[in-house]
Amino acid sequence: MALYEHQSLKIYNSITGKKEEFKPLTEDYVGMYVCGPTVYSNVHLGNCRTFISFDLVFRYLKHLGYKVRYVRNITDAGHLENDGEEGEDRIAKRAKLMEIEPMEVVQKYSIDFHQILEKFNNLPPSIEPTATGHIIEQIETIKTIIDKGLAYEVGGNVYFDVMKYNESKHYGKLSGRNIEDLISNTRELTGQSEKKNPQDFALWKKAEPQHIMRWPSPWGIGFPGWHLECTVMSTKYLGKQFDIHGGGMDLKFPHHECEIAQGQASTGEDPVNYWMHANMLTLNGKKMAKSTGNNILPRELFTGQNENLSKAYQAPVVRFFMLQANYRSILDFSDEALSAAEKGYHKLMDSLSTLKTIQPSKTSDFDVSAWKDKCYEAMNDDFNSPVLIAHLFEAVKQINLAKSGKLALTQENIDLLESTLHDFIFEVMGIENVDGSASSSSHTDDYEELIQFLIDMRNHARLNKDFETSDKIRDKLLEMNVELKDSKEGTTFQIHN
Ligand code: AMP
Ligand code: ZN
Repeated sequence: MALYEHQSLKIYNSITGKKEEFKPLTEDYVGMYVCGPTVYSNVHLGNCRTFISFDLVFRYLKHLGYKVRYVRNITDAGHLENDGEEGEDRIAKRAKLMEIEPMEVVQKYSIDFHQILEKFNNLPPSIEPTATGHIIEQIETIKTIIDKGLAYEVGGNVYFDVMKYNESKHYGKLSGRNIEDLISNTRELTGQSEKKNPQDFALWKKAEPQHIMRWPSPWGIGFPGWHLECTVMSTKYLGKQFDIHGGGMDLKFPHHECEIAQGQASTGEDPVNYWMHANMLTLNGKKMAKSTGNNILPRELFTGQNENLSKAYQAPVVRFFMLQANYRSILDFSDEALSAAEKGYHKLMDSLSTLKTIQPSKTSDFDVSAWKDKCYEAMNDDFNSPVLIAHLFEAVKQINLAKSGKLALTQENIDLLESTLHDFIFEVMGIENVDGSASSSSHTDDYEELIQFLIDMRNHARLNKDFETSDKIRDKLLEMNVELKDSKEGTTFQIHN
C-alpha cells in the first residue's frame, strides 16, 4: 500500500482560493508542470526560491509514493522584454549585446541554472523541454485555435480573440478579473491597434528584419508568443488535462490566465486541476528581479561577495532558510535571517549525531509516533514546511533532554526518531548535511571560504602597509591557480582549472 493512501494531502488551489483534498486524475500518477526560467542571464536567488518551493512539492509527492512526471520548461524564445506584447526578445537582446549567437546565450545560462539548482540539491525534472524545440507543435496549436474561430491573423501576427473566448468561457477566472475591468484598465498603446481588442494576446508574432530569432510559419516568418509554449509543452507531455501547474505568483496574470484560455480553446478542456503559486523573495522589501538589478546571485552567497552579506553561506543553509517560510508567504532576504537559519541548521544536524549516542531505556517519555503524525500533518497541510521545521525542533529538544538524562527513550523510539528525521530532512526537504557526510559541493564551499579568508587577511595586510605579506598571499594563491582581481568594489577571485 502506498503511503499516500494513509495520508490526506491538501493543496491550496489558487483558482478556487481554497485548500482542497488532492486527488490525481489517474490513480497512482501525478502530472505536474512548472514554468521554468527564461535563460538570458544568471539565475537569481528569487528564481531559486520558486524552484525550491516546487522541488519540495515534487519530493513530497514522491515520498508519498506517487509516480510523478514533472515537466519544467526552458524558455529560450518568445519572452519579450516587458512581459507583454511588445519589446525585444530577452535572449536576442542579450545575444546582440554579447555579440554571440542566441543559442550561445541559452546554453550559457541553462548550464548556470542547472549548476545552481544542483547545488541547492533540487531534483531534476522528469522532462525539461525547450520552446525552440517545439515550434512545430506551437504552429499546429495556433492552427487549431484559428480553426475554432478563437484566433485571427493580421499582417503576419496571430492574436487570441479574448472577447470571442469570453462569450462562452471566463477569461480572468484565475486572477479574479473580468473582461470589463480589463478593457477599462487597458491603455491603447501604439502598435496594438491592429488587434480587435487591446487585451488580445499574440500567439504568433511577425519577425521584423532586425529580429534574429525567426521561423517560417503559415503566417510568414516570425516567432511564437511566450504564453503558447507552456500550453503546448504541458499538453504534449502531460495531456490536455493534468494535475498540478505551478509557477511564481507574478506569472498568474497574464501568463497563466492565457494558458487556461489557450488550453481550453485548443483542446476543449480546462487544462489544470490544481494551480499553485509560489510567493516572492524580496530584498530590502522589494521583489528580487533580474530586470531591476535588485537581486543576489547564488554564487555571491556561496562566496560572501555581496554588499548585503557579512559572510559566505553554504547552499543547504540557504535552502533551509527558504523552507522556514511557507511557499505562499513573501520571504524577505537578510543577512541576519540567514545567519539565524545557519544556527538552526547546525542545531538540527548536531541532533542527528547526538541521537546516535543516546542510551536506550525500557520506557519512553516521548510519544514519537504521535510526533511523526504531526510532521505528516504539517506537510499534508499544503506543504507547510515552517510548521514541519517547528516539529523537527521539538524533536531536537527531546533529543537533547534524553542526552542529558532528563528524558527516557526506548530503542524502538530512537530508531523511529532517526528514520523520521532522516525522511523529512534529507528526502522531503532535500537539506544536505554538510557537517556530517562531506559532499563534493561542501568541499567546494569550504575551499572558496578558505580563499575568501586569505583575501581578507591580504586586505588586512595591505591596510597595514605590510605589502610583503599581501604579495606573498597573492603569489601563493596564483600558484594554486587562484587569480585575484582588485577593483574599487573590492577583491574578487577566479579559479583556473
Ligand atoms: P523568469 O526566468 O524571470 O521567467 O523567472 C523564473 C521563475 O522565477 C518564475 O516562476 C518567476 O515567477 C520566478 N521568480 C522571479 N522572481 C522571483 C522572486 N523574486 N521570488 C520568487 N520567484 C521569482
Ligand atoms: Zn509558463
